[in-house]
Amino acid sequence: MVVIIGAGPIGLACGIALKKKDIPFIIIEKGCLVNSVFHYPTNMTFFSTSDRLEIGGVPFISHGVKATRREALEYYRRVKDAYELPVNVYEEVQDVRGTDGAFTVKTSKAVYEAEKIIVSTGFYGIPHRMNVPGEDLPKVKHYYDEPHPYAGLKVLVVGGGNSAVDVALETYRCGSKVSMVVRDPELKPGVKYWVKPDIMNRIKEGAINCWFNSTVKEIREDEVVISTPEGEIRLPNDFVLAMTGYEPSFALLEMLSLSFEEDEHRTPVFNPETMESSRAGIYLAGVVCGGYNTSKWFIENSIVHADIIAEHISGVSEKAGTG
Ligand code: FAD
Repeated sequence: MVVIIGAGPIGLACGIALKKKDIPFIIIEKGCLVNSVFHYPTNMTFFSTSDRLEIGGVPFISHGVKATRREALEYYRRVKDAYELPVNVYEEVQDVRGTDGAFTVKTSKAVYEAEKIIVSTGFYGIPHRMNVPGEDLPKVKHYYDEPHPYAGLKVLVVGGGNSAVDVALETYRCGSKVSMVVRDPELKPGVKYWVKPDIMNRIKEGAINCWFNSTVKEIREDEVVISTPEGEIRLPNDFVLAMTGYEPSFALLEMLSLSFEEDEHRTPVFNPETMESSRAGIYLAGVVCGGYNTSKWFIENSIVHADIIAEHISGVSEKAGTG
């Protein structure tokens, strides 16, 4: 049996690829089905067209060219049902012992014997902290859902990527007084080209106040302190929406005793031809493959991992006469 850790889009794709090869497996998920997508902002729209998010050949028809979060949740539920994928939700993988062909996987609920393991644990579980005083105040959010709670209030959005831009525009349009703090001299180059003119014009006209080359120094109950090139400023503030990014669970990868490249992203070592990690019998799939570089792999370009892994596992089983 193969244990797949994580029921994100790529974990599900791995399950489908194994099913097509008649290899038994189970998917273990610590939250709900496609837990990361579920926790995306309520009104988000994918940057990919819906056909690029398809798995297992199940057509993904959305109302617009690009799918919404709600449509994606429904789609992945349908895929799970169509393929009758065995997914254990609300069960966290906590420990893995043993060697290739004979692993023991301990979860929050049970113990499983597995010949192979696929790690498709994504990156959305752990926010990048700013590590500043006041970050643990309840008014600081690392996950954003919808604008309504912030209507009429003073909001500071931290970050210069897509999430920060979307949050700044959405809260601004729902009546928040929005300021932004961006560490770099400009917004990230990856900001969606169709959104960039909107945010740049709002900044230019002063509807959204943006401090570039600046960082948050301290967060207090009713104000924030920001370090800017012109010196320190204090802004009256009700909420801080820290869209500072997320990182994969290195604790899990370390628990699995995987090796990492000596690069700035702490990329986990894997063979791109098989997706096998530095530990025989343990495979990596999806966004987790990029380490801290969480934008390297996304749904569109990592769906292929599923077939590569299933191909390798079935080849290995055939050689061993267990396929
Ligand atoms: P995830 O979807 O993160 O799934 C990992 C799963 O593993 C989670 O459900 C998690 O709960 C589970 N897990 C973690 N640890 C454990 C454990 N110990 N035990 C059990 N389960 C565990 N990509 C695109 O291609 N197109 C887009 O348009 C797009 N838009 C995006 C918009 C936003 C706002 C964000 C944040 C991302 C977007 N992405 C997009 C990126 C894409 O969503 C991710 O690349 C995708 O979720 C990766 O899928 P995954 O299966 O690798 O990981």
